[in-house]
Parts: sequence; C-alpha cells; structure tokens
Amino acid sequence: MKRLSILGSTGSIGVNTLDVVRRFRGRFSVIGLAAGQNVNLLRQQALEFHPKLVSVSEPAQAMQLASELKREGIQVVCGEEGLIEVAAHPDSDLVLSALVGARGFLPTLRALSIGKDVALANKEALVVAGPIIAKEAARNQARLLPVDSEHSAIWQCLEGAKKESVRKLILTASGGPFFRRDLNSFSSITILEALEHPNWRMGKKITIDSATLMNKGLEMIEAHYLFDEPPEKLDVVIHPQSVVHSMVEFVDGSVIAQLGNADMRLPIQHALTYPERWENDLPSVNLTSIRTLEFFEPDLEKFPCLQLAHEGLRLGGSMTAVLNAANEVAVENFLMERIPFISIPKIVESTMQKHVTKLNPSLDDILEADRWAREQAGNAVAHQVG
Ligand code: MG
Repeated sequence: MKRLSILGSTGSIGVNTLDVVRRFRGRFSVIGLAAGQNVNLLRQQALEFHPKLVSVSEPAQAMQLASELKREGIQVVCGEEGLIEVAAHPDSDLVLSALVGARGFLPTLRALSIGKDVALANKEALVVAGPIIAKEAARNQARLLPVDSEHSAIWQCLEGAKKESVRKLILTASGGPFFRRDLNSFSSITILEALEHPNWRMGKKITIDSATLMNKGLEMIEAHYLFDEPPEKLDVVIHPQSVVHSMVEFVDGSVIAQLGNADMRLPIQHALTYPERWENDLPSVNLTSIRTLEFFEPDLEKFPCLQLAHEGLRLGGSMTAVLNAANEVAVENFLMERIPFISIPKIVESTMQKHVTKLNPSLDDILEADRWAREQAGNAVAHQVG
C-alpha cells in the first residue's frame, strides 16, 4: 500500500492524481489533502478518499469544514502552516506537490527534510530554490520524482543510461496557442485567447506560461536541477502535436523519445508507481491516426520569455527566484486585465535587470529575492497602468 498526501488536490494535477488513485483502489491510501479555496470539491474528495487530514487556505472555511468532517474523523487545518502539516504528516511515504507558484517551495522542502519522497508537479519550487531542494533530498535520502510530462519523459529515456553517455536533453513544447500567430498582432491578444491551449487542459497560471513559453523556460531550469545537466546541454523544440513528450540524445547520436497521449494521468501514475509499471485501461497512443509529428525551432522574438529563463539559469543563484516571482506577478496582472500579454516578458526582464545576482543563496536570501522581485514587478505594473 502506498500512503500518499496531495498538495493542491483540487487543481488540475490534483484531480488527475485522485483519478489515478481511484483506478487502483486498495493499492493507495490517501493520508492528507491540501486545497486552496475550492472547499466544495475538497469536501467531496475527503468523503470519497477518507484522508486523516485536510487543509484549506482560509480559517473561516476550515472551521465550517471541520464541523462537517468531524464525524468522519477527518482533521482540518488551514493556511501556509496547514500546507506544511499535510506535507509532513507522519503516516505518508510520498507527497505529491501540485501547488502553483513559489508558495509550493516550503512545503516541498519540509517533506524532503523528513525523508519523504516528493512527486513534484510544482516546477516553480525547483526554479526558485533548486540547489536547496536537491541538497535537502540528498541529505535525507528522499527522492524527487518528476510529474511534469517532459521531465517524466526524460526520466524514462534516461533509465539505465550512464551520465557520461548523455549529449543533450531535448524538451518538447507544444508552442501554445500563439505558435502560428503573427507577432504584429500580439498586442491585441486577449485573456480568452491566451487561455485556449491547443492540447492540454490545465490551470490558468500554467496555461498563460505555456502561451508565453515561460513554461518551457521554467521547465528547462527544472530539468537542470532534476537531471544535473548544464544549461548548454538543454534544448527546446516546438512539437505542436504533443505526442513526443521529450527526448534524450546520446553521445553516439542515438535519440530516445518517450511518446504518449496528452494525458497527465500517465506521468502522474509513473511517478506514483515507480519503479513499477501498473497496467491501466487508458487509451493507447494511436500513431496511425496522428500520422504527422512536426518539430520546429522556437521563435525567440515572439517568445522572449524562453530567452529570459535561459539567461536566468545562466546567471544562476538568486536570479531564477527573481525570474519566477516577476513572472508570477506579471501573469496575475495579465489575468486581472491590468497589463497586456506583451508586457509579461517586459516586466520579467526589467525586474531581472535591476537584480544583482547572489550566488549560492541561503534560504533567507531566496525568500528575500522572491519578496524583492514581487515588489519590483508590482511597481513596474503600476507604472504601466498609471
Ligand atoms: Mg510540462
């Protein structure tokens, strides 16, 4: 029996994870669930999966839910501390972290610090503090298991490979909704257009990141920390069909790719069952009906966020935390209709330009860089709006 806690259980990854659990009843038990505001769905999940502990963001919601779940023997906690309590519950062996943004970093760190394996969908945690997370995992012999489809693919392609035989990791990107759109019309991009992802149904933040290609930039940084490969060995290709989830090229010129349908339950199941593979009844990938797989160079003029992420990774230290925080603020403001789509990279770039990179940052340095960058990016937004 695998004993599992899920951070972000009502988001897209959380819901898919519980569907995987539902398909293997008796082989998983759910120990903790943490959600944000979606209390109705969390209540349903709690009644179906009977965790020991659930967490919501607001104290008033926690009180209400606690009275409802009391007779089920389910304890309810709240806030940032609630997240950490779920991450650290002594009965779980594995924590799936699907929180969105930098706020997922501390709960992940806590789970690793007490030796729990973490299945990581929250890429921002690694972007913000990759070295600290990697060190904490190694120190406590806890494993970081990739959930992001690209990293799951690379992980599978690397199985059994010697490190010195790897020439490069090739991340695929769908290209998002604006891959074929003319740059001249980028200034009129609407929120609805940006939320129309061609292949994947996901939360809002990651969908906007996919439209700017910042998502691929963050994934490059994530790959750097997960697989310990330098920036020059990380490549991105646009692959609009999202069938090849990523590839590894070896020093002898051989390329191994992992293929599958665009269904997050596949990488989630792989992370939860690793090193085993459990049989499921999800549809197989049908190559003869797909027929065409295309690959293109990314257009950095249209998608400067990819370049900014590469630059952040090259500079290293506190800069990736700044990149991430500025991006979170910019995306949030785009979704509130306060800035246009084309301002997202501008705000990230201007914030990065003002930052003096601190190498080998401590946990406090990271938290301070994150706070500082949010303030700077907020000022940049206010400046644009004003
Ligand atoms: Mg991905």
